[in-house]
Amino acid sequence: MPDLASVRRLLLDWFASSGRDLPWRRDYAPWSVLVSEVMLQQTQMDRVVPFFDRFLARFPTPAALAAASEEEVLKLWEGLGYYARARNLQAAARAIAHGHGGRVPDDPAALRGLPGVGPYTAAAVASIAFGQDAPLVDANVERVLARVFDVDESLATSAGKRRIAALAAELLPPGRARDFNQALMELGALACSKAPRCGECPLAGLCEARRLDITAERPVRAPRKAISHLDVCTGVLTHAGRIFVQKRPTPGVWAGLWEFPGGRIEPGETPAQAVVREFREETEFAVQVAEPLGLVRHGYTTYSVSLHCFLLTLANGGNQPVLHAADTFRWAGARDLAGLAFPAGHRKLLDRLEAEGRLPRLLAQG
Ligand code: SF4
Repeated sequence: MPDLASVRRLLLDWFASSGRDLPWRRDYAPWSVLVSEVMLQQTQMDRVVPFFDRFLARFPTPAALAAASEEEVLKLWEGLGYYARARNLQAAARAIAHGHGGRVPDDPAALRGLPGVGPYTAAAVASIAFGQDAPLVDANVERVLARVFDVDESLATSAGKRRIAALAAELLPPGRARDFNQALMELGALACSKAPRCGECPLAGLCEARRLDITAERPVRAPRKAISHLDVCTGVLTHAGRIFVQKRPTPGVWAGLWEFPGGRIEPGETPAQAVVREFREETEFAVQVAEPLGLVRHGYTTYSVSLHCFLLTLANGGNQPVLHAADTFRWAGARDLAGLAFPAGHRKLLDRLEAEGRLPRLLAQG
């Protein structure tokens, strides 16, 4: 087994010289660390940084976020996905503003009491913001520890998880949790990635998986579930130079986001038939397809989507919907569309229409 003191020293030295310059690492302000940890829950570091900068510029304190409208928060979160995180973060900001004197609590139990803050995020904030001796295990840490210490239990089993947790706790140098936890995660992100770059790794000289030439077999994981695929349709309904959008109900998937109506294409249906049916079911509008707008592809963690898009006009009847799948609606102009938060696939469609110069034309048709 590699010498623990050497692992600690090599990791801390490497992090001091090679750790990335990230905005929340400049002063480790607890609010910055909490926001960064929530953003990093399901998103890669390089995508998080620009969102983090914009978010902190607008909401530099929990009180600022607590006082904002949900609409504005979701708009700033647009593109990061997993929008429940944004709503939970705002609820946490309100709890901090009203129940903790406006300061992020340093007590792990109090942190765990905040909306959207589970045991991992609480330990991350306690150690990284407040320097408390709380071990951290994320996917990067699992990979590094499983390789360095040749953990041969599957990480899908409780025995494998226990072994990793015990190693993380045993390795943690008292008083150095902030740097050590980040060093382990950083090594997993930068060198000990899925295809490890052992030549750049400070632990190469004592890593068991490298010595045994089994880095590809560590960590031992359960077989991955296949990614499923969905074919769905959506329609941009125009009327008098405006576009119909509706707001998703709360609670539910994409709660509080705006969308164009649409849904799954049923067996035996063409995408065009499906979009006419979906509009009837969701809004009671009778619509007709004016032209296809092409396909938008989007990937999520466990499924991928092909979004068949259409330009629609009203076939008959008035322009007041009867909503069956939304809280509210708008006939939106250009400024509305730019200011509302949409799910990623719908935002991709809007961006494409804008880039192709079609959106201004649609909105100009009176
Ligand atoms: S030597 Fe290679 S496998 Fe081992 S910790 Fe470093 S990068 Fe990972």
